[in-house]
Amino acid sequence: MSVFFFLLGSVLASFSCCMADRWLSRQSPLGRSQCPHCGHQLAFNDLIPVLSFLFLKGRCRYCGSRISIWLFGCELLNGSLFLCLYHFYGINILLARYLILFTVLLASAYLDIISLQVSDALLVFLLAWRVITFQSADHLPSVFTNALPVAGFLIAFSLMFRLIRKKQPMGLGDIKLFFILGCYFSWERNLLILLISCLSGIIYCLIFQRKKAFQPFPFVPFILIGAILTVFFGRQLVSFYLLRIGQLP
Ligand SMILES: [Zn+2]
Repeated sequence: MSVFFFLLGSVLASFSCCMADRWLSRQSPLGRSQCPHCGHQLAFNDLIPVLSFLFLKGRCRYCGSRISIWLFGCELLNGSLFLCLYHFYGINILLARYLILFTVLLASAYLDIISLQVSDALLVFLLAWRVITFQSADHLPSVFTNALPVAGFLIAFSLMFRLIRKKQPMGLGDIKLFFILGCYFSWERNLLILLISCLSGIIYCLIFQRKKAFQPFPFVPFILIGAILTVFFGRQLVSFYLLRIGQLP
């Protein structure tokens, strides 16, 4: 079962990143995959997630051009995520909910890295998926009201920042994504995702963007990091924080 979930995750990542590439280059979502450099149609053995990249040493079999390392990274990460989510939740509706959430988050991170865009279509899909995977224990209005505190705070913060600094601190797509995440997680966990993503984003900027302060950079990958850590270690992180500030005995 573990191998099945790893393969499923890497195949879905490969498919969604391929769709993101086609969407960006305005190609039809249908049709055989081609090398983006030489246009050669790819055979089945060129398209095996993770393994093809390793066997071909990261280069196209036909023209020798480098294959995107991000694509390989997404396949590996999503396969590992599926494996961990399966072991964490077992087989139930929550697993289905989070498998698709993380696949779409990963595709959004990939899209953000290569184009600095967040697709509204993917966000609408995530919202629809949350409604489809609705459980009787969920209280439907609270699914949406949970999303308001963090998204509302980000809108207010963005407006104030724009007023004072005349700059946009965060893309609208990122704020919409936090609204969607609020529909999947409690507002406290969504706040934790925001804190982790901001912290990791700041660390990234301090290391790699020191000379390009306030230059736009892809933020969805950091939101993805926040969501992964929150799903697997949310309870421990909140307990650690509360212990630190002395609110727990
Ligand atoms: Zn090629």
